[in-house]
Amino acid sequence: MKKIEKITELRQIISQVKKEGKTIGLVPTMGFLHNGHLELLKHARKDNEIVVMSIFVNPLQFGPNEDFEAYPRNMEKDLLLAEQEGADFVFAPDVSEMYQGEPSVTIKVTKRVDVLCGKSRPGHFDGVATVLTKLFNLVQPEKVYFGMKDAQQVAVVRGLVDDFQFPIEIVPVQTVRENDGLAKSSRNVYLSERERQEAPVLHKALLKGKALIEQGERDLHTIKKTVEETITAGTNAEIDYLEIYQYPELTEPKNWSGEIIIAAAVKFTKARLIDNITLEL
Ligand code: AMP
Repeated sequence: MKKIEKITELRQIISQVKKEGKTIGLVPTMGFLHNGHLELLKHARKDNEIVVMSIFVNPLQFGPNEDFEAYPRNMEKDLLLAEQEGADFVFAPDVSEMYQGEPSVTIKVTKRVDVLCGKSRPGHFDGVATVLTKLFNLVQPEKVYFGMKDAQQVAVVRGLVDDFQFPIEIVPVQTVRENDGLAKSSRNVYLSERERQEAPVLHKALLKGKALIEQGERDLHTIKKTVEETITAGTNAEIDYLEIYQYPELTEPKNWSGEIIIAAAVKFTKARLIDNITLEL
């Protein structure tokens, strides 16, 4: 496995891979890898001849009061894990390599961003769309792998790929969880011992909501109330949002058919955790 830090080197390698007619799978990440990331790598390894993982903590997708500086990083360990899971290349540029000076063009996501994380993190998805556009252009993958833990991201990226006509297939991968149900996240290391014990209540509450819908409950207020009460019974952490939407449109469920998502964000002392559950009706 080879680590690439410079865009010129990445371009040379991709150009060679393309000449050889090999297919490329891309797994974009911010590093501090866990089994969720590695699951994406596994899928990419199975489907493609060449697998590129990017590791880049993208400043553009962090708000001014968010955790860009404090975001956990461990490049050495990440490289070992990526190699073990069969990545061919890890693209890990510096911020100055990816963003050279003031931008002359910016990308603004206009759909599906007035809800959930888009609402509580203004500009976040503009940053995500910008870095992904760069990565898509540089790596030229046939397939790109995203985790459903960030379901809104998957929906937004579908819009990006459709609008800009990237010849790319988006492959969503199911959320990988700890044994107690907590979704794996790089930010879980910020949880205190007590918060770590409480955090699985988020998944438990989402499952309760799902069960209610499956049993035929259709009153949004009732479903949300049950989920909220389950969360607040298990932790003092503050609920940032809890919503039930049609997926991937992220609009109010109309006929209670198709895919429905229950999504929540909860603020612990140092970590804001998100999770969701989808169900097909
Ligand atoms: P991040 O490094 O947090 O930006 O995540 C990189 C990619 O890994 C994104 O597509 C995430 O949705 C995905 N991912 C993060 N956590 C998980 C998880 N627990 N299960 C599956 N995919 C995940």
